[in-house]
Amino acid sequence: MEYGPRRFGAYDVFLLRDGVFEAPAEALVHVAGEGARRQAIAAWGLPALRMDVNCFALRGPSGVVLVDAGTGPSWGAHLGHARAALAGIGVAPGEVGCVLLTHVHGDHALGLFDGEAPYFPEAEILVPQADLAFFTDAEARAAIPKARQGGFDIAAALQRIYAGRIRPIRPGTVMPGIDACPLPGHTPGHTGYLIGDGADRLLLWADMLHLETLQPADPDVGLVYDLDPAAAARTRRGALEQAARQGWSVAGGHVSGFGRVEAVGSAYRIVPD
Ligand SMILES: [Zn+2]
Repeated sequence: MEYGPRRFGAYDVFLLRDGVFEAPAEALVHVAGEGARRQAIAAWGLPALRMDVNCFALRGPSGVVLVDAGTGPSWGAHLGHARAALAGIGVAPGEVGCVLLTHVHGDHALGLFDGEAPYFPEAEILVPQADLAFFTDAEARAAIPKARQGGFDIAAALQRIYAGRIRPIRPGTVMPGIDACPLPGHTPGHTGYLIGDGADRLLLWADMLHLETLQPADPDVGLVYDLDPAAAARTRRGALEQAARQGWSVAGGHVSGFGRVEAVGSAYRIVPD
């Protein structure tokens, strides 16, 4: 498996593998309902879903930018290795000038914290505005099962620990050669980042999909972690279609390495890039 660096526009892009996340196969959902969900679980054929957890380091003209930050030490020994991977490419936490968050979930954001201190002491944190609004809304929190309220605690920690250094962002160019692309559904503000210019671009699609074989073959399969499964499925179809049509390289929070998307009839597959 290749972790980079890969060059897109002015950026050398490194994949930092944080570890492996495992969930029960029962975590699958399907837009078409329970029958289709049972079929997807049967087709998967294993009791567990295993997926990589990744974040990315971009070395560019204005220093080092991260896209997400991994889990940090909080999710056990199978995870939390992105910090060592960052050190392995010669980057100290104090050299990170900016972290682009894709969404406010633990496996993407908890690595920002060192207890009550910022792990990246010099970094500004760019957070999709719609996620910041949602995860700081007490009514939204009350409407969500307790086990899935972690994002609300993370948003509070962000505002406390990175006070004065949180910048809400909207879709569009966030810095030269990096565009924020809304991919809503997994969370309301879930955002991908398109890196580079011209034809040779990389879409970091975060949690647009989690299972690199199952979901391109049937974009209506989701996971219980998608807050709005129908919106997530629409986004998935649209993003896969666009990535295939544009010939973009792709990588994400939970797929392995760098790939490209190919259309197969009305579905898709990811091939190594
Ligand atoms: Zn997520």
